Amino acid sequence: MRVISTDEGRALVEARGVKVHYKVSSGFLSALLGRTKVVRAVDGVDLSIPRGGSVGLVGESGSGKTTLGRALLGLVELEEGSVLFDGTDVSSLKGNALKAFRRRTQMVFQDPYTSLDPRMRIGHQVEEPLKVHGICSSKEERRQRVLEILEKVGLVPAAEFYSRYPHQLSGGQRQRAAIARALVVGPEFLVADEPVSNLDVSARAQILNLLRDLRREMNLSLLFITHDLAAAWSVSDKIVVMYLGKIVEEGTREEVLREPLHPYTQALVSVIHDPKRKKGERLRISGEVPSPLNVPQGCRFHPRCPFAMDVCRRVEPQMIRLKGGRAVACHLYS
Ligand code: SF4
Repeated sequence: MRVISTDEGRALVEARGVKVHYKVSSGFLSALLGRTKVVRAVDGVDLSIPRGGSVGLVGESGSGKTTLGRALLGLVELEEGSVLFDGTDVSSLKGNALKAFRRRTQMVFQDPYTSLDPRMRIGHQVEEPLKVHGICSSKEERRQRVLEILEKVGLVPAAEFYSRYPHQLSGGQRQRAAIARALVVGPEFLVADEPVSNLDVSARAQILNLLRDLRREMNLSLLFITHDLAAAWSVSDKIVVMYLGKIVEEGTREEVLREPLHPYTQALVSVIHDPKRKKGERLRISGEVPSPLNVPQGCRFHPRCPFAMDVCRRVEPQMIRLKGGRAVACHLYS
C-alpha cells in the first residue's frame, strides 16, 4: 500500500515493502554454532514523499525511524522491498549515478557536537562536500558559495563564522552549520534525524523555523524524524507514525493532531501540552517499546494498548485506508 498520496506531484522518494533486518548472536558460542536472532528494525514499510513535500516520521526510540531514514538514503541493505528515488531503484545505482544520488540526497544528524570535526574551521567543513562532488571550478567560487549558504542558514556575518571552529559556536549555531554543510550541494531530498532534540527550547524553535523556511525556499523534500509530535507538526505537511518497525497511522498534520486514530498516536498526542485538555483525558500507555528481537504476535502494540481485544493478540492488523487518504492499522477500524 502507498502510505502518502502524491497529490503534490510525483513522488521523489518511495519505499515499497521495505524490510531491514539484522542478524545478531547473543555470544561467542552462539556465533560459533551459527545460532542467530533477527532484529526486525524495519518490517514492511511503504512510504512516499512528494517532490517539495515534507513528512514527519514520529515514534519512540527503537521504533525503526532512523533505520528507515537511512534505508531511504541507500545506506543500509534491505532484506526485502525497494527504495525508488526519482523513479530509479536506489540499489541499482553505481559509479557516477550513485555519486549523483549522494549529492541529491543529504542527511542532518541529531548531534551537531559530534557531526562536525572539532579541528576544522566551519567554512572548510561546509566546503568539503563541494570538493567531493566537484562543484565549483575555483577555490574562490567555492568560498563564495559557502558564504552564501552560511548566510542563508543565519550564520551572519558569514565571513566571521567561516573562520570559526565548532567549539566557538553555540549548539544552535552548530546545527545551523551542519544544515549548511548538507544543503551546500543543492540536494533535493533531506533526511533530518532528530535535529533539534539536543537543543534548548529557543534554539530548537529557531532551527524548526529555519528548516521550514529553507524547505520552501529550496523546494526540498524533507523527511523529519522525531519522537516529538509537536516538532513534526511545525515542519511537516504529513505525519507518519511508526511503532516497532511498522507504520501504524498516517494523515495530514492537522488530521493526526486533531483526531488521532491509532491508540499509540492518541497517547503521543496526549502528552503534548494542551491547556484545554481536562484532567483524566490523557491517554497513558505503560512500558517501553518491546525489543525488535521479540516482536509480539498479532498487533505489535497490544501489550501496551488499553483497548486491546482478543483478536489483537492473534491477528496483525493491516493498514486500512479511510476517507480522504488517511490510513490506520488497528482492529478498532476494521
Ligand atoms: Fe490496540 Fe488492538 Fe488497535 Fe492494536 S489493534 S492498537 S491492540 S486496539
